[in-house]
Amino acid sequence: MKKKMRILAVGAHPDDIELCCAGTLARFVHEGHHVTMCFVCRGDAASYEVGPEEIARIRAKEAKLSAEIIGADLIAGLGLGDGEVYVNRENTIRFLDLIRQAKPDLVITHNEEDYLQDHYNTARLIFEASLFSSTDNIKTSYPAHPVVPAIFHMQPYAGVNFCPEEYVDITDTFETKVKMLSQHKSQLEFMKEHFGDDMLEAIRVEGRFWGRQAGVKYAEGFIPHRSYPRIKPYRMLP
Ligand SMILES: [Zn+2]
Repeated sequence: MKKKMRILAVGAHPDDIELCCAGTLARFVHEGHHVTMCFVCRGDAASYEVGPEEIARIRAKEAKLSAEIIGADLIAGLGLGDGEVYVNRENTIRFLDLIRQAKPDLVITHNEEDYLQDHYNTARLIFEASLFSSTDNIKTSYPAHPVVPAIFHMQPYAGVNFCPEEYVDITDTFETKVKMLSQHKSQLEFMKEHFGDDMLEAIRVEGRFWGRQAGVKYAEGFIPHRSYPRIKPYRMLP
């Protein structure tokens, strides 16, 4: 796949992309493709220290610093709070507009089986919205995007029940991924306090695990969404 593509990575919360596909995004950028990162929810539930508005503000800033590391565009939230990602008409329109704004050839998003409702509903909404976003008769804020993008599902956090079908070697971009995730200081602290979980260690362990499967040092794994007309007879991932 030599054509320059537009890539849209969509995570439910401001740090999901960094955890699960940032190494691949960095490779896309290095290969000259255009990358847009989007988080759907404000991330306003994830703090013991400050209120929802303050943590949302902090997290938007952290996401911006992370996107800047690879020079990606950032779409900071679709006007939803944590836990508000339901599959309904109103949210489908939000996602339609996201697709039309970012104009992707390829979307990376959550797996349809995941541990958190915001995650698997984000995957569902991407699937539904990215077909209708191509039709001009559904009017939203942005004009129709005449491409039905390929969708690749990224691993759920900790990789539970996920068996990748395609792997991306992120050995050369792994430290960029670490740098990006490190911008999410509020969440590194929150996850340690709340779950006793070190996210920087987690991406190293998981990256090594997928890397072992693919015969490289670090990898990220993906499952392509197989449905008409998204299947391509060539590889789209780096
Ligand atoms: Zn999340």
